[in-house]
This record gives sequence, C-alpha cells and structure tokens, in this order.
Amino acid sequence: MKLTENFTINELIFSETAVTNNIDNRPSVEVIANLKALCENVLQPLRDYLKSPVIITSGYRCHELNRKIGGVSNSQHILGQAVDFVVPDRKLKEVFDYIKNFLPYDQLLLESGKNGKWIHVSFRRNNRHQSVENYPA
Ligand SMILES: [Zn+2]
Repeated sequence: MKLTENFTINELIFSETAVTNNIDNRPSVEVIANLKALCENVLQPLRDYLKSPVIITSGYRCHELNRKIGGVSNSQHILGQAVDFVVPDRKLKEVFDYIKNFLPYDQLLLESGKNGKWIHVSFRRNNRHQSVENYPA
C-alpha cells in the first residue's frame, strides 16, 4: 500500500531483525496514520526536492522489536512518528540542512554509529523543532 507517491507502508515497517526473530511488526491504524503524516509532510517533499531515492533503514518498531534493536524505550519509532534513512546519491549533511531549513519536523538527528551515518527524523502534532548535527547512536 502506498502512503505517498514514492513511499509504501511495507518499506516503513520492514525489519530484517523482525523477520529473523519472528517478531510481528504489523502496525495499528494509529501508527499507519502517523507514518502517513511523516511521509506527506517530510519524506515525500524531501524526495521531490532531491529527485534521488530515499532509503529507509528503520521505520516503525513495535515494542518487542525496539527492545531487540536496543532503541530507547520512549523512541518515536514505536509510535510510527520517526524513521531512519540514507540517501546514497547525496551527502547526508546536505540532506540534513535542507530538512532543517525548509521542512517541518519534530526531531532531526544526523546520527553516526558502527553502521555508518544516517538521518533520524520525526514528525508529530506540535513539533518541537529540535536538531542535532553530530548525534552518537
Ligand atoms: Zn531513529
């Protein structure tokens, strides 16, 4: 099912870890609404601007999956309000700056960890507009 032109529900809920560990990561109606708002307000406008694929590395996580991954217990991934992604064709700093300057967001992090760098972005009602450029994962 498509949420917007370039984003499907499947890519926002797929998790290798969930598949491997037999975790049921199917989203609730409320989570789907949050994922759709995130796509409509942030990811699709970003995709339209970049004209390059935006690759989701982690989207919705049920509690069990979030625990397994070692995410913080109040992670917005649990609500479907946050995604992690990369843009292989672009410098992530450039993508980070574009979101920061031109798009609505709640939290925007340029994260780095043992698996490289990625952007974490969230969207909700009453966005806090917090951004951190060098966030250790
Ligand atoms: Zn994240």
